[in-house]
Amino acid sequence: MIHVIGAGLAGSEAAWQLASRGHRVRLTEMRPRWTTPAHTTDQAAEMVCSNSFKSDDPNSATGILKAELQRMDSLVLRCAEATRVPAGNSLAVDREAFSRSVTKNLKEHPNIQWEEAQISVPDLSQPTILATGPLTPDPLADWLASITGSGRLHFYDAIAPIVERDCIDMDIAWMAARYDKGGADFINCPLDKDEYERFLDALLASERVPLSHADTPYFEACLPIEVMADRGRETLRHGPMKPVGLDDPRTGRWPHAVVQLRQDTLAGEHFNLVGFQTRLKWGAQREVFRLIPGLAQAEFARYGSIHRNTYVQAPLVLDSTLAVKSIPNLWLAGQISGVEGYLESAAGGLAAAFSANRALCGLPPMAFPRLTMLGSLLHYLANASSKDFAPTNAMLGLLPPLPEDRLNIRELKRTGGTRAVKSAKGAAHRTRSLAALTEHLRLAEPSR
Ligand SMILES: Cc1cc2nc3c(=O)[nH]c(=O)nc-3n(C[C@H](O)[C@H](O)[C@H](O)COP(=O)(O)OP(=O)(O)OC[C@H]3O[C@@H](n4cnc5c(N)ncnc54)[C@H](O)[C@@H]3O)c2cc1C
Repeated sequence: MIHVIGAGLAGSEAAWQLASRGHRVRLTEMRPRWTTPAHTTDQAAEMVCSNSFKSDDPNSATGILKAELQRMDSLVLRCAEATRVPAGNSLAVDREAFSRSVTKNLKEHPNIQWEEAQISVPDLSQPTILATGPLTPDPLADWLASITGSGRLHFYDAIAPIVERDCIDMDIAWMAARYDKGGADFINCPLDKDEYERFLDALLASERVPLSHADTPYFEACLPIEVMADRGRETLRHGPMKPVGLDDPRTGRWPHAVVQLRQDTLAGEHFNLVGFQTRLKWGAQREVFRLIPGLAQAEFARYGSIHRNTYVQAPLVLDSTLAVKSIPNLWLAGQISGVEGYLESAAGGLAAAFSANRALCGLPPMAFPRLTMLGSLLHYLANASSKDFAPTNAMLGLLPPLPEDRLNIRELKRTGGTRAVKSAKGAAHRTRSLAALTEHLRLAEPSR
């Protein structure tokens, strides 16, 4: 029997992978009796903010990671594909249908024993995967800090608001994807220069929820929009409000700025404001976001909010199989281990399950190869600088460089520009990653 604590993105994947290898799994989830400041349901793998597993571009970092997870029969990815909603070139899902589907698979698996409890001190006489996420309650987080001896690290992460589709003025907004890539799946709200400046003034003047720990940093890749706006009046136009590739059908031109909304439910009645994570007070969100053309009558199905995330100092605590160095039979998975993102957390759950499976079978540890996206992510956790360690998403830059002679960069740049170079590099990484994974699985799991 192995104990998986937390049925989030990572714990759900870990429990599934172990159960499907014939192990008996005790899966402990504290919700709904206890909850976190961001979760609202009693379902497994709840997506607390956006409903997106990011880009589907096969040659992007997330595209490569998805291909790897698919090859290893990821439950999270399979349920995501089954509950997909239109989102251009990205994999977005109906969050409720997705979580229901993961929950059903786990609860119906004969090897999984689902238990509702809040664990404060795990029983380490049993092999254990700890996957309690960025909002792990204090008793357990303090226990982890004390047994690893490396303290706790934190960053702030915010949630974006969701609005009701019926309230969006489609005489102003229009459906399209940037550069018409994928279907016309996003609602786009255009702003001219005056509208943008008015919106920015209101945003900068609005009241924010005070932070309980002023010295805790934000996660740089997912800053609240008001913090981006603090950095300069043009910052949003180069970030979540960038207008490039979006022709307004009323003018035939790119507007000065655009707010994009992505479908959040299969029925299409809710849309979330892409990249608009925020810690404005709720009243301020209503006032400021209603200044966006097309959203004057917006009704909010969910407001944005901010939360303090916990993670370990991975380079001191973990090896590249996600095993806790100082404690036998304990693995960490998901965001608490120092990865960031739904997809990366699920991938961490899968990797921890692979490691635990080998230990349970009496086999020596075997890390995923660095040439794979998953292996490079785990290599980063174990080998980054511990002094200023910060969580990471999957990125092509984590992979070892490609041999120079494989790509004729100068010729590619001449014929297709930097975009062609990026795509060719991504394709070469993908080919190399999948070949390395095939070889790894042949050695690690010959019978599957
Ligand atoms: C506010 C916020 C916004 C985010 N927005 C995004 C986003 O838009 N896109 C994105 O890709 N990622 C986002 N993330 C980051 C991250 O991808 C998610 O938090 C992801 O869900 C992490 O997966 P996980 O499995 O590690 O943790 P979780 O999915 O949070 O799962 C942990 C589970 O453990 C349970 N649990 C916790 N403690 C205990 C205990 N002591 N005993 C029993 N059960 C316990 C919890 O109830 C939960 O179900 C966000 C995170 C936060 C906090």
